[in-house]
Amino acid sequence: MNIREMQRSSIKGLKAYDPELLANYRYKVDANENGYDVPPLARKKILKEMKKVFFNRYPDPGAVKLKGILAKKNSVSPGSIVIGNGSDELIHYLLQAFTDPGDIIAAPAPSFDMYSILALANGATPVMVPLDDNFDLDEAATLKAVNGAKFIFLAYPNNPTGNCFSRGKILKIIKAAQGFVVLDEAYFEFSGKTFLPLLKKHKNLIILRTFSKAFSLASMRVGYMMADPEVISIINKVRLPYNVNVVSQACAAVMAQTAIAPVVKKILTEREKLYSALKKDYPVVKSDANFLLIKVNDGNYAKKMFEKSGISIRMFKDGRLKDFLRLTIGTPDENRAALAILKRGV
Ligand code: PMP
Repeated sequence: MNIREMQRSSIKGLKAYDPELLANYRYKVDANENGYDVPPLARKKILKEMKKVFFNRYPDPGAVKLKGILAKKNSVSPGSIVIGNGSDELIHYLLQAFTDPGDIIAAPAPSFDMYSILALANGATPVMVPLDDNFDLDEAATLKAVNGAKFIFLAYPNNPTGNCFSRGKILKIIKAAQGFVVLDEAYFEFSGKTFLPLLKKHKNLIILRTFSKAFSLASMRVGYMMADPEVISIINKVRLPYNVNVVSQACAAVMAQTAIAPVVKKILTEREKLYSALKKDYPVVKSDANFLLIKVNDGNYAKKMFEKSGISIRMFKDGRLKDFLRLTIGTPDENRAALAILKRGV
């Protein structure tokens, strides 16, 4: 048997996702996680919750408690929410539930890689629309691409560029699209900007959020979707019955009720300090998120210098992002270490 030939034809050209993390790092500023772990009081509450867990039983398949907390927090009904094993899983479910082979999935480029990877994994056809010179949406090209597309995915703020696209352009896209417009607000707590209030008015709008960034729970894999209840019930047809484990549900419930504003504020203050320190020496994109996209002089040399200092960073190799690196805003220690390398010149 030729196993290679057996795979779904749309994924034949795909490589397995490799985040290229540096092994044995001292500082980890490569994956847009929160450099600060959950605060001590929240950790205590989580451990207390752990004492109540029945490890022998399946978790609540509907994550009713967590959904209730999130519904209240976001002023939507529990029926408008579904919880995922990370928001990645929810992107997968959306494509699985709503696309047929060959359907067009639009997304800007550069943006989050999983949109095109999961489109291909589900037999759909990704159509990438290049962002303009300011990494904002190219309005005409995007409107053209959404015409006939089943989905457009817009990360807001965008990853890896860090900026929020123009609100006016997105509004035009929501109105023009015949398919769904997914606003992936993974970094919402840093930007403070959201399309959530428009959810009731536009049936084709879908909002994604995650606990992996501002809520310090990347390890637990919890994301959620807010959409029209009909979208949610269709997603529930393809969702694996126990997709979010009991520990993750409990951790997310605690963190959803924990004040994260102080940590967010610390990260934003550090981001602005770094931005000011770097923009004299490098092109840096103004960021609405917890990371900065920086163009260095020589990407390979920069990668070596970071590695030598034990700093794991995200470096881009090809196309428009060649010689760009993405620096997650971490703790002051992590930021100082990264800044020292950049100040030496790379
Ligand atoms: N969307 C965007 C824009 C992201 O940057 C990320 C994480 N890198 C995700 C979604 C996925 O987040 P998670 O699966 O951890 O919820």
